[in-house]
Amino acid sequence: MDRIISLKQAFSQVFGDGDGLTVARAPGRVNLIGEHTDYNDGFVFPMAINMDIVIGGRKRPDQLVRIHSIDYQRTVEFSLAQPITNDDEESWSNYPRGVLWAMQEAGVHLSGMELAFFGTIPQGSGLSSSAALEVATAVLVQRLIGSTIPRPELVLLCQKAENDFVGMKCGIMDQFISVLGQKDHALFVDCRTLAYERIPLELGDYRILVCHSGVKHSLVDSEYNRRRQECETGVAILAAKYPAVKALRDADLAMLSACQDRMDPVVYERCHHVITENARVLKSIKALKAGDLVTFGQLLNQSHASLRDDYEVSCPEVDLLVELAQESHGVLGARITGGGFGGCTVNLIHVDAVEAFKERVVPAYREKTGLEAQVYVSTAANGAEILN
Ligand code: ADP
Ligand code: MG
Repeated sequence: MDRIISLKQAFSQVFGDGDGLTVARAPGRVNLIGEHTDYNDGFVFPMAINMDIVIGGRKRPDQLVRIHSIDYQRTVEFSLAQPITNDDEESWSNYPRGVLWAMQEAGVHLSGMELAFFGTIPQGSGLSSSAALEVATAVLVQRLIGSTIPRPELVLLCQKAENDFVGMKCGIMDQFISVLGQKDHALFVDCRTLAYERIPLELGDYRILVCHSGVKHSLVDSEYNRRRQECETGVAILAAKYPAVKALRDADLAMLSACQDRMDPVVYERCHHVITENARVLKSIKALKAGDLVTFGQLLNQSHASLRDDYEVSCPEVDLLVELAQESHGVLGARITGGGFGGCTVNLIHVDAVEAFKERVVPAYREKTGLEAQVYVSTAANGAEILN
């Protein structure tokens, strides 16, 4: 409730008053397991976290759109009488702009509006503040103008905003979980069919601890594109022998072995990661359904090793953070999460071990790297919703 009040205050400071405000929120996410599988038509398993974007807005009687970032103390405005374009100087505004653009592309008739938002998701950390901003905007605007876009289409619309307006070729996972998350559940998504299943996260005395390494991912765009290319090369070699292989999702380790002699060793390792990672997601679901947290933790550890050695998307700092966690009492598993080259780790930890994590892992990490790791313990949160 406090959040709505502070949003209204900030809104009225910029836009005169806070009358008739509709407020929405959308969460960030952490991917529990299934990394770099989404663009290989594979499986992912994210949960929504309890950090989010909160956005308020109301319609205007004209064509003017005004958007205010409370965190940045910046406002942009433009008219719907002209096509919506990118703003390089206020790049934060491209996420809400992109959503409005994608809505127009989908045939939605917009009106002028005033929007203001703030967020609690660390930005550029792989917890998907960008998708949360898109989804929060989309859910709010659709309520404001009274359109009802079915949720799966809303997910695609937000992804289109990020892919084609912002220019980041992300997969579907981030927007998917931000829309469809559910309290105390993680979301198993088949990225080929977009079929999904909400899996209860019954962790008992265990918690999901997200730890930010303090390393900003910088290589991510170029290396991300290169990994995608390497996977495509692998698929082409596999498909020459096994025509049913359309994506790495369709291959298994026996097929990969049979093609190894025709593959560059690097391509082989990339394919090895994706194939084994998909299998780990399925095993994780099975383990969680059976209440077997020890196995789930081991799968997290294996996923990290695979991302570090086969896919090569970790970095020394994150490897250290994962090692320190894995050695720490009460930690069942730890791995890098998100695109890689920095960002966050996800840890499965006993509730009584959280303080020890803060008292031992964080200082040991600081001593060796000079970096301050940030710890967030999160339950699985709801997806996007209107708050008032
Ligand atoms: P991630 O999605 O991993 O957090 P991105 O680089 O994809 O990282 O998205 C981060 C960008 O999203 C920020 O640079 C900013 O433009 C925008 N953004 C996210 N949260 C906020 C916020 N609270 N206020 C303004 N802009 C935000
Ligand atoms: Mg993002």
